[in-house]
Amino acid sequence: MFNRIGVIGAGAMGRGIAQLFASSGQQVLMYDTRAEAIADALEFNRNLLQRSVAKGKLSQDDYDATVARMQPASSLEDLKDCDLIIEAIVELLEVKQNLFRDLEAIVREDCLLATNTSSLSVTRIAAGCQRPERVAGFHFFNPVPLMKIVEVVRGSRTDERYIQGLVELAEKAGHFPAITPDTPGFLVNHAGRAFGTEALRMLSEGVATPQQIDRILRDGPGFRMGPFELFDLTGLDVSHAVMESVYEQFYHDPRYTPSFIAAQRVAAGLLGRKTGQGFYRYE
Ligand code: NAD
Repeated sequence: MFNRIGVIGAGAMGRGIAQLFASSGQQVLMYDTRAEAIADALEFNRNLLQRSVAKGKLSQDDYDATVARMQPASSLEDLKDCDLIIEAIVELLEVKQNLFRDLEAIVREDCLLATNTSSLSVTRIAAGCQRPERVAGFHFFNPVPLMKIVEVVRGSRTDERYIQGLVELAEKAGHFPAITPDTPGFLVNHAGRAFGTEALRMLSEGVATPQQIDRILRDGPGFRMGPFELFDLTGLDVSHAVMESVYEQFYHDPRYTPSFIAAQRVAAGLLGRKTGQGFYRYE
């Protein structure tokens, strides 16, 4: 159903999504308002794939073919023949609505518009479109090629045909598709919210340090990463925005109250790996 995929936003998520589908045989066109972000993403992906070649996990022929399937787009109009567009741009409702509105004037009638939003309502993003039935959530996790789960989010008006199409596409790429309703935080960011916000609360109350909390959650319940390590990987700008968005959508349910610590650290630019310092330092 989806042979030509447009990926919009070439940041942490867009580049991973592009690599995933180029590796599973789809043609991928990448667009970003910053041309240098596309160049960086393509280079990043080439380096990652090159490492797989060096480790003997990928043949040189497959490397060449995969790299050839990832191409830059110089404008949104270049995406006009895509069967599916996945946006992974900034987490702002109005910006995503505007992008989909612009895309509707460019793409075919049956092109599915998917959003990688972590926390915004898919139904609300779709509400800005002329054909909301062709909008769905397709929510990946960072790093995309390694985190082999994706939420397929059914908006209130999403056509079932597209949901099944995304399920098949995810399975073909080796990811487990979890179909979720369009509720705040979907499944993963709803279930996982408690750990992040509670860890921040423990920190603000001086109960424990980030290092202690991370270690306890890794060594006890066996999490792969502690909440502060995960904040640093995701970027606190993204995580804090998700916490605020989930809190708003649950009508200020105190269980989801975001933390002033996160707000202050975002203001200070202590975002995590992307800025060299978050709860930990990165050289
Ligand atoms: P990022 O900041 O790394 O990348 C975003 C990219 O989008 C940037 O390169 C930026 O130039 C580009 N961009 C912004 N506005 C644009 C527009 N109007 N048109 C085209 N390009 C535009 O962000 P990210 O971490 O990759 O997150 C992207 C989306 O994915 C967000 O909706 C976020 O909530 C979601 N998400 C993030 C994570 C994560 O762990 N980082 C996980 C799941 C989902």
